Amino acid sequence: MTVGIVGGGQLGRMLALAGYPLGLDFLFLDPASGTPASQVAPMLQGAFTDAALLRELAVRSEVLTFDWENISVEALRALSRETRIAPPLAALAVSQDRLAEKRLFAKLGIPTTRHAAVDSPASLARALRDVGLPGVLKTRRLGYDGKGQAVVRSAEDAAAAFEALRASPLIYEEFVPFDFEVSIIGVRNRQGEVAVYPLNHNLHREGVLRLTRAPWKAPTLERRAATYLRRMLEHFRYQGVLNIEFFVRGGRLLANETAPRVHNSGHWTIEGAATSQFENHLRGILGLPLGATTPRGHAAMLNLVGTMPAREGVLALPEGHWHDYGKSPRPGRKLGHVTLLAPTAAARDAAAKRLLRRIDPEAARGMTG
Ligand code: AMP
Repeated sequence: MTVGIVGGGQLGRMLALAGYPLGLDFLFLDPASGTPASQVAPMLQGAFTDAALLRELAVRSEVLTFDWENISVEALRALSRETRIAPPLAALAVSQDRLAEKRLFAKLGIPTTRHAAVDSPASLARALRDVGLPGVLKTRRLGYDGKGQAVVRSAEDAAAAFEALRASPLIYEEFVPFDFEVSIIGVRNRQGEVAVYPLNHNLHREGVLRLTRAPWKAPTLERRAATYLRRMLEHFRYQGVLNIEFFVRGGRLLANETAPRVHNSGHWTIEGAATSQFENHLRGILGLPLGATTPRGHAAMLNLVGTMPAREGVLALPEGHWHDYGKSPRPGRKLGHVTLLAPTAAARDAAAKRLLRRIDPEAARGMTG
């Protein structure tokens, strides 16, 4: 049984690695050669919008899924006669537009940041007046890892950011001086079964995730985040893994964004949970029984960004796990990750801090808790 995956990055690669023990085969579509997924599975090389290749992928697959969200919903919709597509395209469409995302959060009673759409100098002036300063001006589409956004502290900043970004429709939102960031990941299958992982505590630097720790013991936040996630899963009659990221300020959750796919803050589940997010995504989209999301200890996941440290240092650690995505180094590029598993949260935090000091001293300085 073949799973077709649009996008052949590290998320696709980890989906394939999780799916082989289930007896699954994989076929990827990606415009680039030598991608992380192509090193472990066959790949069709071509544009994400190439109708002939998409059709071939669909015809050869039991189910079609995707490993990132900036792909054409229209091109995928054209395939719905050929194959089943999961997660639902409605969820994909919402995640592609920060304004649609915020409107959905509001509709489902999920608190989110104050915001306004911006597409002209007049709407920028209105947004500044209604939302206030400081704020963040972001492109509505195609933004990820802090790309396509600028922090705005004055009217002059706003004008400069608008000039730089105005080629695209924009959204202006309040700047949240958050205490920390969390995310919640869950899965639903075709039969309506739902399983939710423990809460993730996330540390970003320059818009890029550096460190996730889970389970993060904050029972009230976890309960609330899981309730919001379940609402979204039911709203879409979802199949597969879904993620929501939140800011936490004064004990309150404010949803920042959602991703209809496996997520970087869930990589720890490979070794740190009874069933990984990757395996559960496959189970979810294939209508198989879901696996337990129970943690197996206390996990820390550190992203390896820009350069890879020597793996010996990590492999020598008790319960240190090394993941190399097979990418060539480039500043700011996610090349791999390390997961540390510890028997207690305190031991995990101490081990994570020691390692983060070595591989990302600046992020280590921002590590609290
Ligand atoms: P995003 O691309 O929206 O996920 O933003 C990447 C990161 O930038 C977030 O995880 C935050 O650390 C930071 N960020 C984004 N939006 C805001 C905001 N409105 N207030 C404060 N920090 C933000």
